[in-house]
Amino acid sequence: VDLAGVGVPALTRFADLHLHSTASDGLLPPAEVIRRAHAAGLAAVALTDHDTVAGLPEAQAEGARLGVQVVGGCEFSVKVSWGELHLLGYFLPVGEPAIEEFLAGARAMRLTRAGQIVEHLQAWGVDITMEDVHAEAGTASVGRPHVARVLVRRGTVPSVSAAFDEFLGHGRRAYVEKVLPSLSEVAILVHRFRGLVSAAHLRERATRATLSALKQDGLDAVEARHPGHSPDHAAQVEKLARALGLVPTGGSDWHGEDAENGHGALGSEAVPLAWLEDLDARR
Ligand code: AMP
Ligand code: FE
Ligand code: FE
Ligand code: ZN
Repeated sequence: VDLAGVGVPALTRFADLHLHSTASDGLLPPAEVIRRAHAAGLAAVALTDHDTVAGLPEAQAEGARLGVQVVGGCEFSVKVSWGELHLLGYFLPVGEPAIEEFLAGARAMRLTRAGQIVEHLQAWGVDITMEDVHAEAGTASVGRPHVARVLVRRGTVPSVSAAFDEFLGHGRRAYVEKVLPSLSEVAILVHRFRGLVSAAHLRERATRATLSALKQDGLDAVEARHPGHSPDHAAQVEKLARALGLVPTGGSDWHGEDAENGHGALGSEAVPLAWLEDLDARR
């Protein structure tokens, strides 16, 4: 297979280590994400929903059935000097009280924030309530995309990206900051359970100085390949990661929709399985 059409040798097998499902703001249920990964020829994936591991049992059961390795993951948000950093946790267990309690706290924060966003929207004259957000999100870890989908359904805006542009994006009319833990707090928690943490989609922040500082705070890996990174930038970040003793990771950040808004298509980053092996060897 030459998944990405980039002339990778036919026997190279691929992984996608950054994926979302309906357990958070993705559009497809965990098992369906795994079926699509299998159909795309992927050997391994990590399901990395925002602030939850609730999709993992279903994903791992489907992975076992189809022969797709499913790494237990989660996308945390942490506070850094420049604002918010997304941190991909890998090799996470399900049902560990310390992790489940931490994530329940993060999801409670998300609900509080969604309530504040709804209040801002109401103040701007938008007809929306938390009931609508709950109806949209169900039991999922709530995020701005759920609010955006309500606004699209209501006809307030034509698209999810328009909802972000007008109301929900950073600094826009109804934007509310998240209350966030520190990187070291999350790293310590994940390390307690033999997991690892990778800095997601850093884009131009992926400098030697910043990565060294993050490593001091417990970072193990850095997402080199991501739809928000050009191939040149990804190669540069991969090299920098290896030079600093960080493991490179990569993934499409697929949310189940067509590639847009900085999210790619499933498998589009063609991450070599060897990267996952390097990550596993670091534990
Ligand atoms: P939240 O976790 O509530 O801060 O929402 C962040 C999520 O919103 C990201 O993980 C993306 O899935 C999505 N998102 C962020 N920016 C945009 C955008 N401009 N258009 C569409 N979706 C976005
Ligand atoms: Fe998301
Ligand atoms: Fe992210
Ligand atoms: Zn993501």
